[in-house]
Amino acid sequence: MARKYNFNPGPAVLPLSVLETAQTALVDFEGTGLGILETSHRAKEFTAVLEQAKTRMRSILGIPDSHEIAFFQGGANFQFTLIPMNILPSGGRAEYVDTGTWSTRAIDAARLVGEVAVIASTKEEKYSRVPRTDEMKWSHDAAFAHITSNNTIYGTQFQAFPDTGTVPLVCDMSSDFFSRKVDVSRFGVIYAGAQKNLGPAGVTLVIIRKDLLDRSPENLPPMMSYKKFVAKNSVYNTPPVFSIYVVNLVLGWIEQQGGLEAIEKTNDQKAAALYGLIDSDPDFFRGTVKPESRSKMNVTFRLPSEDLEKECIAKATEDGLVGIKGHRSVGGIRASIYNSMSLEGVEKLVEFLKNYRKAH
Ligand SMILES: *Cc1c(COP(=O)(O)O)cnc(C)c1O
Repeated sequence: MARKYNFNPGPAVLPLSVLETAQTALVDFEGTGLGILETSHRAKEFTAVLEQAKTRMRSILGIPDSHEIAFFQGGANFQFTLIPMNILPSGGRAEYVDTGTWSTRAIDAARLVGEVAVIASTKEEKYSRVPRTDEMKWSHDAAFAHITSNNTIYGTQFQAFPDTGTVPLVCDMSSDFFSRKVDVSRFGVIYAGAQKNLGPAGVTLVIIRKDLLDRSPENLPPMMSYKKFVAKNSVYNTPPVFSIYVVNLVLGWIEQQGGLEAIEKTNDQKAAALYGLIDSDPDFFRGTVKPESRSKMNVTFRLPSEDLEKECIAKATEDGLVGIKGHRSVGGIRASIYNSMSLEGVEKLVEFLKNYRKAH
């Protein structure tokens, strides 16, 4: 079997050990004689998986008792709508920072629900950085404040999170959740589609501060109400059993690696290897992001011409380095180097790029 190095932005690479465990479980899940895809979401074996996933999330990330964990379907996009429906009271105002495609989606969805103010944007600079702390003028009376921690398409990332005082900070962490340590107590809501850094598509992880559950309007349908959905421990209806199962395996893998401390260290090394190459030859590798905003998950750059980019992507693919084509809206090259991409894989890509550069 020839496994390739997968630099796709999502769904993305998963640890081989996780895939192999899941492969076995497709046929026989923990000796039950039933496959995981055939297992009832009310079976005690699945309940144990769900509880273990929550326990692992709490211990790995340090989620305090003040916050609940929920597993939704519908992706991060569904949360773009659920967040204002649940925690933006009528007559209230939400404040958003615009750092690219996904925050724009979040803003557009929230505007259909209530009043939204965009308090900072780097659109004029083609989203080549995230706003500085002093550029984000939060008010003290907003219902909540929203940011996107890692901008998957543009390759930017908040290195530090803004201080929004008593206004709950809501964060889309879809593409860097569990890639670094985060002080969860500072957030009102954190949400993330699993398919970038934590598992398969189909499940969205939501961490929500308990007091915010009381904001859910009573007339919201149960599937859309944070309060009602959390009260049913994410099994109001049939949850995405397989996706949650795999997320739990990935969380176990993170523990085996040594938790977020070890994960973060490797992620730093991986990012340093690629940005080091970019900085060593800026005429050829043209980083698209201001250094202070560089993402450690999605590394974006251009080559001197689109023809070179095309050829480079094709040659990399031939060499088993797949998924480095930039998003269709920005072009160029993007290497997504989530937790499950090994340092070895990144070193292979760096070596390939160096050789490509030499040949041109
Ligand atoms: C991929 C992505 C999304 C969209 O996620 P879906 O689960 O497809 O809805 C939203 N936000 C960020 C930051 C992403 O990377």
